[in-house]
Amino acid sequence: MKRRKFIKTSALAMASPAILSSDSIRDLQRNTKPVVISTWRFGEKANPVAMDILESGGYSLDAVEAGVKVIEADPEIHSVGYGGYPDRDGNVTCDASIMDDKGQAGSVAYLKNIKHAISVARKVMEETDHVMLVGDGALEFAKSQGFKEENLLTDKALQKWKDWKMEQSLRSEENHDTIAMLAQDKFGHISGACTTSGMAQKMPGRVGDSPIIGAGLYVDNKIGAAGATGVGEEIIKIAGSFLIVEFMRQGYSPEDACWAAIDRLHQRHGGKATFQTAFIALRKDGAVGSAAMNGDYFRYVVSYPGNMEIKSVTKK
Ligand code: ASP
Repeated sequence: MKRRKFIKTSALAMASPAILSSDSIRDLQRNTKPVVISTWRFGEKANPVAMDILESGGYSLDAVEAGVKVIEADPEIHSVGYGGYPDRDGNVTCDASIMDDKGQAGSVAYLKNIKHAISVARKVMEETDHVMLVGDGALEFAKSQGFKEENLLTDKALQKWKDWKMEQSLRSEENHDTIAMLAQDKFGHISGACTTSGMAQKMPGRVGDSPIIGAGLYVDNKIGAAGATGVGEEIIKIAGSFLIVEFMRQGYSPEDACWAAIDRLHQRHGGKATFQTAFIALRKDGAVGSAAMNGDYFRYVVSYPGNMEIKSVTKK
């Protein structure tokens, strides 16, 4: 479908939304599971860990947490956790969010010196009455929960920062990428996780979409879930992940829902948006989909038991 036609079709569909009846929701619940979907090729390393948990009957929340932790711990990945590129002042600061099938949510933003921001986000969800902790408060809370402070800035990332200082270069496409992971377990429970060190060379204090519930991540166990990567400022302004779940509630497929969010970004920029942004979605029946602004180089990884596929977005 050509983009113009798609926008038209989306507009029509939006005019008379087909809100899912409880019968169709029950239909969606008879599905293929377990399933995991994650952003970028990070899923090659992260999905198998999540799938092992799901295949042995584990909970989707444990699966997404364990999956994204693999990427947070990898010093060769410069956009998430340990080894992440620093902000303009040379500090690595992490943003993460997590959401479960019961609609509970937790997140941390601007967290320094803790490798597994996703696990701190889970503690915020499970151990406090709050949804989000930031900066020093998040760090103090993490320490009170037994997390160990460590330097997340590797020699390689430090060298890159020094090079930037020399070049005075601005942020570029290679300097960001987030892992968002959505999973459904054998019992139908959907959970999601999203973690990043954000844009390299960001302004100190800058927080992206990843820890914002509804922007970088959203889960509604009756309908499905969505997650995001790309320019956080743009994703926040359309409440991207929430928007996709709401499109699925209106009857859109996961893929069409993701494209509809990309179209919303285009609409906001007079059809001329070029910044990288990509979404993934998982529907209650196990169907998955994705869309990206620059689909040529975005990849996502989908796993079912015994099967993992690295996929590109299908152009509309
Ligand atoms: N969404 C992340 C942020 O804005 C970065 C990315 O995924 O590329 O912090």
